Amino acid sequence: MTDWQDDASRDLMSLGGRLALLTRGEGSHVWDADGTRYLDFLGGIAVNSLGHAHPVFVEAVATQAATLTHVSNYFASPAQLELAARLKRLAGTGERGRVFLANSGTEANEMAIKLARLHGNPRGRTTILVVEGAFHGRTMGALSLTPKAAYRDPFEPAVPGIRTVARSLDALEQAFDDTVAAMIVEPIQGEAGVVELPDGFLQRARELTSAHDALLILDEVQTGSGRTGEWFAFQRTGIVPDAVTVAKSIGAGFPLGALITFGDASDLFYPGTHNSTFGGNPLASAVANAVLGHIEDTDLLQNVQDRGRQLRDGVAGLPLVAGTRGAGLLIGILLDRPVAAEVRAAAHQRGLIINAPTDDVIRIAPAYTIGDAEVAEFLTLFAAALEAVAETTKTPTETHA
Ligand SMILES: *Cc1c(COP(=O)(O)O)cnc(C)c1O
Repeated sequence: MTDWQDDASRDLMSLGGRLALLTRGEGSHVWDADGTRYLDFLGGIAVNSLGHAHPVFVEAVATQAATLTHVSNYFASPAQLELAARLKRLAGTGERGRVFLANSGTEANEMAIKLARLHGNPRGRTTILVVEGAFHGRTMGALSLTPKAAYRDPFEPAVPGIRTVARSLDALEQAFDDTVAAMIVEPIQGEAGVVELPDGFLQRARELTSAHDALLILDEVQTGSGRTGEWFAFQRTGIVPDAVTVAKSIGAGFPLGALITFGDASDLFYPGTHNSTFGGNPLASAVANAVLGHIEDTDLLQNVQDRGRQLRDGVAGLPLVAGTRGAGLLIGILLDRPVAAEVRAAAHQRGLIINAPTDDVIRIAPAYTIGDAEVAEFLTLFAAALEAVAETTKTPTETHA
């Protein structure tokens, strides 16, 4: 073990190994302490929408840090007001929308749970529906929304009232009764392995929540802020939710999350029912304004769609590849056998950062700014990693999800 690994295993909370000691990033590349260069197609888990050290990001941090960094929510700031108005516009809330700015995805989802309680409690409705395979975060409330046993079991008892619905239209039909206050759902399940919902699932969820006077809350922490080639993934479905949570790529690496409400759901919180010391501070808000403004001004969402298509076409036909899922630059690459961990490691050895959310899925979530050169470099390195693993594992599995 090199020194940094000794330091990490002694001093950092023991929650899993670290893959490298990264010291610098520029565009879609990062470098480790030995000077090894990597192509970063994970982007800090779908966060670094503008890549590393983008001049727009750097300038926004420097300018706002030298102007006003933090004031608490006892005060408003121009940057915060601008960001709230911008998020309402991008989400299409119209006049009757509101925004609360938090610091992370899990925090935005905590607030979504509180929104469900404020809506349901006056009528004694406390059930929150979540979908099989969902991931909503690691704090106790968001963790309670996350069915995965390995994440949850050590921390039981969970927040009560949460019920898991199988990922099918039949299950969705059966799930509603007059105890349901809200349904919380990811339009594409990122952590589950970039899993798409069945056709019509979100539309039916909208109809059923409306019919039962329950809220439909979308967790767009991973899919929002342009990741799928739309500002929000729900915008491809034609539905209007009651609330959306975002985080990950909204600040391009600066920690920030948000809950955005639509219509009547915008009037549920009232003074005293929520707050955050850091949430929506001028520095985070100014960075998000600069990042989102740059994405708009340079039409990067078109690039997200075009590069996503190019990447999906490019990986089709490579060894071990059985198909792709996802939208824009949130792509799950299905393997024909459960060797995703080996492929990830082989890619790392060749200077490519990707990840393996499940046994047979590779996830990529590169910067919105990638061009032909990055796509070509990815395809070369990824093909080499797949070939190396295909050499050593000859047996395809019978089935794959
Ligand atoms: C990452 C993620 C979260 C949690 O966000 P954090 O910022 O890590 O707390 C919640 N929901 C979804 C869909 C995510 O992908």
